[in-house]
Amino acid sequence: MLKRSQIFQNLRFGVRQRVVLALLVGLLISLTINSWLSIQEQASYTNKEINRKGIQISKIISYSLANYVVGYDYHGIQLFIDEVTKGDVQYIKVVNTSGNTMAETKISESNLETLRIFHVNIMIDDNQVGYLTVGLNTDAIISTIEAQKESLLLREAGVVIFILLIEFLALSILIIRPLSRISAALSQKTDFPGVLPNEINLDSQDEFGDIARKYNALRAQLNKAHRALQGKVDVADKKLRLANEKLIANSQKLEETNRELINQAVTDPLTGLFNRRKFQTLLKTSVESMDRNNENLSLLIADIDYFKRINDKHGHEVGDKVLQEFAVRLSEGIRKSDVICRIGGEEFAIFCYQAGSQDAYNIAEKLRQHIEQTEVQIDNITLNITLSIGIATPGIGAALHCPDCLYRQADIALYSSKSNGRNRVTHFHEVDLDDVEDLDMEQEINEQNRA
Ligand code: GH3
Ligand code: MG
Ligand code: MG
Repeated sequence: MLKRSQIFQNLRFGVRQRVVLALLVGLLISLTINSWLSIQEQASYTNKEINRKGIQISKIISYSLANYVVGYDYHGIQLFIDEVTKGDVQYIKVVNTSGNTMAETKISESNLETLRIFHVNIMIDDNQVGYLTVGLNTDAIISTIEAQKESLLLREAGVVIFILLIEFLALSILIIRPLSRISAALSQKTDFPGVLPNEINLDSQDEFGDIARKYNALRAQLNKAHRALQGKVDVADKKLRLANEKLIANSQKLEETNRELINQAVTDPLTGLFNRRKFQTLLKTSVESMDRNNENLSLLIADIDYFKRINDKHGHEVGDKVLQEFAVRLSEGIRKSDVICRIGGEEFAIFCYQAGSQDAYNIAEKLRQHIEQTEVQIDNITLNITLSIGIATPGIGAALHCPDCLYRQADIALYSSKSNGRNRVTHFHEVDLDDVEDLDMEQEINEQNRA
């Protein structure tokens, strides 16, 4: 349901409606005043008219009766009275100068009271011969006068309505039409905010014409200013877009550089594998992830046997190429999910995810065989290289929740492989800790295990 305030909001009370209302109120007021004045006028007019007519009739009767009265012709007077007392005249009484009633119309007292009574003297030349009393019935006179008045009133009302209609037409043409044109022009909708779409098409030499001309001039100025501003906005917009594109390109470049720097920070330049720094991070995150997800993890540390001899015999450069070739082979020998890092000169760490001790052992053994069985060809030099591997798996005789301990255990296992003749794989759980010279380390490992 609509609220009252909404109904009033929707109800538009425009100039046309106001003018109609004003004219209707004017009509009502003028008709009311006119009727009131007419009533006042009618009362006195009717009274005067009756008096005029009454005296006129009475005088005519008195002239007609004068000779009868002088001749004491009672019969003639009576005949005259009978003849005359019809229509408006309903009562006549004739009295001579001696005060004797010579004739009188028979009429009841109550009927007499409803009549208007007129007294005139009966005269012959300048001599009074009697008195005449005439009783007039005024109904007919009043109704005639009223009928005249009614038609006059109707005519006046017609004239008032006609004048108001003419006024309304004049107001419509002179005021409402120009106002509607101005309103229509100002209500035009445009797709371009800030632009005034249409001129007001009005050229009359009056205030409305002035408004239209002033509006049109203002509109032209505004539209010109708007176009100029729009041009500037477009240029600024273009510049901003270009600057933005440049910024995005720079930001992408920066991101790339940043990625490269981050990559460089964690990459070994010689082999392209992760470096020792990345190894430290991976060691920590891998052990944490393994703990969290209760998954298997094994760490392999691989070291080339007698690498120093290669350097000594063929030079450092060949040694470098061997290291590069060795990195490729290692990558070939592991699973895709595993990760290799170069953690020292010719020492590599391999994270074998979801690999228990036996899986890790198999992977390491396969690697060892792959390296042993494939010759390395560098600048016409054929080399046979071998490697030793140490493995540690948390929970299998090795530390839990301790990244450093895991690394140390793998390193001890590697040391064991080296001690036992090289070119072999040793798991930490196989190591006889009595053989490990570094007893402090052993003690520390046991402490970590207990923790
Ligand atoms: P082992 O079987 O006991 O491991 O003997 P090894 O000779 O491999 O052991 P050692 O650790 O004594 O020697 C490693 C050598 O690796 C020492 C160093 O000259 C060499 N080396 C370290 N980094 C690089 C490198 O980047 N390039 C080259 N060409 N040699 C390196
Ligand atoms: Mg070595
Ligand atoms: Mg070494």
